[in-house]
Amino acid sequence: MSDSEPCDDCGEPTTDALSRTVRLTVDRSQIDAQRLCPECFAEWIDRYEREMQSETQVISDDGTDIIVD
Ligand SMILES: [Zn+2]
Repeated sequence: MSDSEPCDDCGEPTTDALSRTVRLTVDRSQIDAQRLCPECFAEWIDRYEREMQSETQVISDDGTDIIVD
């Protein structure tokens, strides 16, 4: 299998099966997208929830915020 690509954060080779992609969008414009290994993904969500806590929801159906594939 050659479906390993580096994590956008730590650079560790991560297979598609394990990687998570996060996309941060505001008003339907993508402002950030990262392909992360499970560890960095967990940290990212952690950080996101801390920073955005009172302002936005982590996942919302209509409009803004974060999409996790
Ligand atoms: Zn990583």
